[in-house]
Amino acid sequence: MVAHHHRLPPWLKIRIDHGDNFFEVKRVNSRLELNTVCKSARCPNIWECWNRKRATFMILGNICTRACRFCAVKKGQPTKVDMKEPERIADAVKTLGLRHVVITSVTRDDLEDGGAGIFVDTISIIREKSPLSTIEVLIPDFNGSEKGLGMVIKASPHIIGHNIETVPRLYHEIRPQGVYKRSIKVLKMANDLGRVTKSGLMVGLGEDINEVIDVMFDLKEIGCDILTVGQYLMPERRNAPVIRFYTPEEFTMIRLKGNEMGFGHIEAGPLVRSSYYADVYYP
Ligand code: SF4
Repeated sequence: MVAHHHRLPPWLKIRIDHGDNFFEVKRVNSRLELNTVCKSARCPNIWECWNRKRATFMILGNICTRACRFCAVKKGQPTKVDMKEPERIADAVKTLGLRHVVITSVTRDDLEDGGAGIFVDTISIIREKSPLSTIEVLIPDFNGSEKGLGMVIKASPHIIGHNIETVPRLYHEIRPQGVYKRSIKVLKMANDLGRVTKSGLMVGLGEDINEVIDVMFDLKEIGCDILTVGQYLMPERRNAPVIRFYTPEEFTMIRLKGNEMGFGHIEAGPLVRSSYYADVYYP
């Protein structure tokens, strides 16, 4: 499922293990016709997470209106919005007994509210069916629509995540439809309205460490609570190449720097992804 088109350093070698939980998560997702970013983005941690009965559900279809160069999710004409999807996600949460749920989505620049309405429905139905579960949403930038973002903030998920992904200098090349300042603004608005905020950064795309530290300062300045920093891996040959592999020692340095800056929590490591072990370190 995950192809790597480069010689991986030893610390990025992963164990492929199809345990019983893995197959149960797979069965539940296919029975309920659910998309996950684990599969669509070809995440290297899919075995470990699904074996821990953890998955990140991806709503609003599996075709994105944007074309980030690091992402394996299909691009193009998105599918019709499935109004029954929130109910099915809530069923999966209940069936799998998920204590912490992560919901993300493709970006739907074709929708007036950017898909915020479906996020709100999903949060409220999960809350109704699994009141003890904590809900984390990893949202797009809703194309800067404060109305869309406001709807999700008002729905009070436990964590609002929005990934900054890379450093501003590389946006044009790596995240062409994204705007660095707009993403910072999304996190600032959620933070200013009292939500726990989270962001994710990939390294190895051509940035230098000072640019990474600068982004961490920008995030800390707007009150971002949780940060994840992981090694970029090229999911498919059409995606951006890996420029370099950071060593585990460099990730430790980044984590210590993040602690020094006062992030509530920072996860930094080669295989770290936005929702990797998100259930463990939820404050
Ligand atoms: S917005 Fe970018 S990262 Fe997100 S699903 Fe679309 S292409 Fe992938």
